[in-house]
Amino acid sequence: MAFFLQICERMEKIIITIDGWSSCGKSTLAKQLARELHYVYIDSGAMYRAITLYFLRNHIDWTNEEAVAHALEAIKLVFMTNHKNGQTEMYLNGENVEYVIRDLVIAEKVSEVAAIKAVRAFAVARQQEMGSRKGIVMDGRDIGTTVFPSAELKIFMTADEDVRVKRRFRELYEKNPNITLEEVKHNLSMRDYIDSHREISPLRKADDAIVLDNSHLTMPQQLDIAKKWVSERMK
Ligand code: C5P
Repeated sequence: MAFFLQICERMEKIIITIDGWSSCGKSTLAKQLARELHYVYIDSGAMYRAITLYFLRNHIDWTNEEAVAHALEAIKLVFMTNHKNGQTEMYLNGENVEYVIRDLVIAEKVSEVAAIKAVRAFAVARQQEMGSRKGIVMDGRDIGTTVFPSAELKIFMTADEDVRVKRRFRELYEKNPNITLEEVKHNLSMRDYIDSHREISPLRKADDAIVLDNSHLTMPQQLDIAKKWVSERMK
């Protein structure tokens, strides 16, 4: 790891984008890469989740363009590092919402909200600002296609549906033991459908992205593969 870091620190900083289907481990890989490279990690999905939380709490009718525009003016999203665990956490108007935005209630609505043109323009503008100095790993659905189309390394992650459902189920079950595998499966396939069929910036592999199927890979194996790609792109 030290050798990898030494090499990378001598090179110019790059932008790494990680897109893909729900629950295929994008954020795990993005966090690991950011840690090893001393880069900033940005979870773009957290922004759409936080906006959805705001809309739900404030009963915003998101089919109404004016209501959405007005609500977006009142939203301030900030990522801050939690120094206890080194993780970046999402703050919505000064409140740490990192935990609450992971709830299934948010997951049920987030893809609808994320399909709205004004919401995407709002989030994408902030994401591009965060990447202006490079040295960033950002994961999401449209990062390699729309947010950073010129990124130096684009990874498109995928995994078998069963594997993804089980992974997400394990995560959610820790918080809510009443959750069922069926509910999780339904949520993932619904989100993947809406995300890949929406009009604006649908989820798709950028032409120059490399596919990483981690159905049968361990976390260290997938990290090694990604680090090899990073080294190649930095040469
Ligand atoms: O990554 P995560 O599962 O937290 O994302 C939640 C939702 O946010 C996705 O299902 C998608 O609807 C939306 N999203 C998006 N574009 C991104 C990141 C997330 O539309 N770049």
